Amino acid sequence: MSYDDQNIFAKILRGEIPSIRVYEDDDTLCFMDIFPRADGHCLVIPKTPCRNVLDASEAQLTSVMASVKKVANAAMVGLSADGITIQQFNEGPGGQEVFHLHFHILPRHEGVALRPPGQAGDMDAIKKIAEKIASHIG
Ligand code: 5GP
Repeated sequence: MSYDDQNIFAKILRGEIPSIRVYEDDDTLCFMDIFPRADGHCLVIPKTPCRNVLDASEAQLTSVMASVKKVANAAMVGLSADGITIQQFNEGPGGQEVFHLHFHILPRHEGVALRPPGQAGDMDAIKKIAEKIASHIG
């Protein structure tokens, strides 16, 4: 399986389609999922191409996981979350729909179930939540 640079996250990285950005550094980007399964659902991706964990380099995995940890801790504080679910899928049969490596960060609150996939969120609400998370990233 090869990397297709026309995938939607590659377009987000190139600024060809908009995204609500939460955090970025030299190697990684975190932006909000526009079909949020939980308030604060966001995605962390490497800025360099790879499909998923199966073809990622150790350097890509290391930098992405450092950002996952940073954003997850910020979401715990900024959203007063009780926990964080982290999801990651590999290839279609593994549940992956967008073929640029990404980790889902899903802030969780006691007793609140994840929403079903594919339900568009309110963009103004998503922007406000993104600001709350971003304000707690050091
Ligand atoms: P996967 O199943 O590949 O792990 O998840 C892909 C994720 O990308 C889904 O959670 C989906 O809601 C999200 N997604 C799909 N299209 C867009 C988009 O155009 N913008 C953003 N921000 N997220 C998207």
